[in-house]
Formats: sequence, structure tokens, C-alpha cells
Amino acid sequence: MFSPEKLREFLGRQIDALARRIKGKQRRRSAIADRALIIRESNIRDAARLVSQLPGITNLGQGLPEYPAPQILKDAAVAAINTDWNQYSNTWGYPQLREAIARKMKHYNGLEADPETEITVTVGASEALNASLLATVNPGDEVIIFEPFYENYHPNVAICGGTPRYVKLHSPTWTFDRAELIAAFNKRTRAILINTPHNPTGRVFTMEELSFIADLCKQWDVLAITDEIYEYMVYDGRKHISMATLPGMRERTITISGLSKTFSITGWRLGYAVAPEKYTRALRRVHDYLTLAAPSPMQIAGITALNMPDQFYEEMVAKYQQMRDQICQVAKQAGFEFAQKPEGTYYLFTDPSRLGFENDRKLWEHLLYNHKLATVAGYCFFRPDAETNHIRFCYAKSERTINAARDKLIGFRDEQLAKSQ
Ligand code: PMP
Repeated sequence: MFSPEKLREFLGRQIDALARRIKGKQRRRSAIADRALIIRESNIRDAARLVSQLPGITNLGQGLPEYPAPQILKDAAVAAINTDWNQYSNTWGYPQLREAIARKMKHYNGLEADPETEITVTVGASEALNASLLATVNPGDEVIIFEPFYENYHPNVAICGGTPRYVKLHSPTWTFDRAELIAAFNKRTRAILINTPHNPTGRVFTMEELSFIADLCKQWDVLAITDEIYEYMVYDGRKHISMATLPGMRERTITISGLSKTFSITGWRLGYAVAPEKYTRALRRVHDYLTLAAPSPMQIAGITALNMPDQFYEEMVAKYQQMRDQICQVAKQAGFEFAQKPEGTYYLFTDPSRLGFENDRKLWEHLLYNHKLATVAGYCFFRPDAETNHIRFCYAKSERTINAARDKLIGFRDEQLAKSQ
């Protein structure tokens, strides 16, 4: 016979065992890992799929250049396939491409890097970001992210089990508050993600801003991961500054860039990470198992891209600056406000709150369905619970597309004026 205590203990054990069995069954029933559940789907890429199915849309949405790739690059890619550069490359990237990246880093970024031990070719800057974070961030570590942010950053950090720690870039000038940044650093801070020129705001971080961030990184022994994918798109005579060139930052910075934007080849999937040997060794280990290597013929053609003369970049900047000025003018006329023209990138991030829509999703839908104009709603660039009202326009578009967008925005403005009368 059980005493009452023994009976209680026995029943308690039975209940615990039952609870464990139910929990185990529930876990088995979910085919999806927690990791995948915390990632929100890409709104920009979702929208891009929708937009591609709608007829008659003028697309200033997803950040892909509408221009053809330079002919010399296309010829180089075709030649690479025809001459059988069709097998896996060295997983870190062909040595010739890494040498070309090293030359470019020295010439444009003012950074000396050893192609053998410090440069890794990746499947786009996207993979370089993932590999860098996976190689350096442990579960529970904090990663500082300026908000608004490129929408990949949140999932990139979450996949590692890291915690994003947001620091606001305040509208309308999109600058950070120094006290807020200081407050974000602590013992758990592992890395800070810096994107300059910045998507979506078009900000180009100044030397003062970067120096301030650098001092905090040194003080707290924090790694800087800098996403410089728009490095060539800087306007009005500005200069792009690579964080790794600041005193004491070379040894604590992973510099990430790629060929997608500069050469209008977002589909070729070529990016790279430049980092001190200890970080390179770690991120290469992750990279080898994430993707093995970037596409071989594209890598060979990428060498031709990186050998383009300075004139290529000068013409590109002049073209983008002209497009920027045009889109700024039309957007302003249509009631989309902004404090300053974008300093870099090919995006204009606007404040449409005076137009009276409930939020940016509603305005985004209205522009898409009633005016056949695709943009990106600002909420994609903020943490999930943020209340936002911004519209991003991408202006890496042809004259024809910009003109069509102008007509649609004028139509929208007239509709809004008629409504208010
Ligand atoms: N970083 C930023 C800030 C971007 O805007 C993008 C593309 N939209 C990427 C990285 C990804 O670049 P890639 O095509 O080289 O993967």
C-alpha cells in the first residue's frame, strides 16, 4: 500500500512523464525548426514576386538596377563558360579574382589585404554577411543594428541565436544620437553592423560618425561588420570611407562588398569579405559548408569587372546622381517629403505622412493597385512591431521608367488634390 506522500510522489512522476510525452509528440509534429519560425518573410522579395505578376506596373520597388550589364562583362562570362570554367573553384574564390579584389581594395578603399589569407569570395554580399555572423556570434550575444536597416540583418542575426540591439537613425536627417549609441554597448555586445552608404535612407556616414563608432568598438572590444555594397554610389563629391581604414579598426573589422550593384549583375551572386586572418579562417570554415563556392564562370568574368577603369565608375555616379535629382523632384511634387537628397545608394526614403494614409502599407497598396506604381513600404526596414510611415523609391532605373513613374506620381498628386477639395 502507498502512503499518501508516496502516492502523491508516484502520481507526480506519472504526470511529469505524460507531460514529457505530450511535449515530445508536439515537437515531433512540428516539421519546422524554431530558427525558421522567428524569421519573418522578406516583404521586399514577396512584393517583387507579386509585382512581377501584375501587368503594366512601373517598378521602383526592389533594389535591382534596370540597366544591362556592361557588354564586356557579358562577353567575359560567355567566354568563361565556353572555355570551361565550369567546375567548382577554390572554395575561397579563384586566386586571380581574390587578387583583383585586393587591387581594388587598395585602389578604392585604401586598404591593403592579402588575397591568400584575408579575402573570401562569397555568394553575394548576402552570404558574406551570414558567414561572418555565423563565424563570430554565439547564442545570447548582442549585435548592434542601426534602424532602419536592410531587412536581411534581423534574420541574419537571429539565425545565429544573436539578439539584435537597435539604435535609431533619427528622421528626417537619419543620424544617430551619440548617447543612444553609447547606451547600446555592453558586455554582451559582440558586433556592430554598419551599412554605408545606407539602405534605405541613402545616408553616407561621415568620418566623425565612423570615428565615434570606432572608439566605442575599441572601448568594448567589439567587431565591426561593414556592409559597403553601395560604396561606389556616393554623390555631390562625397567620398566613401571604409571603417577598416580608421586607426585601430583594421584588426577588428570585416569589410563586405560585392559586384551586384556596381555592375548591374545582382543575379550573378558575387560578393566578398575582407577580414584579418583569424576572422577569415573562421568565416571560410562556415562558407565552405554554406555554399561551397560562388559560381565559377561568374568569378572569372568578375575579374574583368574589377579591372574596369576609373572612368566607368565616374560615369556611373554621374548617371545615378542625375536619376536621383529627377526622382527627388517628382517625389517632392507628389507630397513625399525628405529633409535632404540621398547622399549615396540608389534609394530615396521619404516621409508621406502628410498625405493622410493610415500607414505605409496602405499607401503602398494604393500606389500599386490604383496607380500601378511599385515602391517599398518602409515597415520592411524596421523591427516587426514598429509603427512606420515611409516609402522607399529605387531610382536605378531607365529614363523611360523614371518618366513613367513621374506620370503616375503626378496622377496620384492630382487625385489627392481633388480629394482634399
Ligand atoms: N546589403 C545591402 C545593404 C543590400 O541592399 C543588398 C541588396 N539589396 C545586399 C547587401 C545583398 O547584396 P548581394 O546581391 O551581393 O547579395
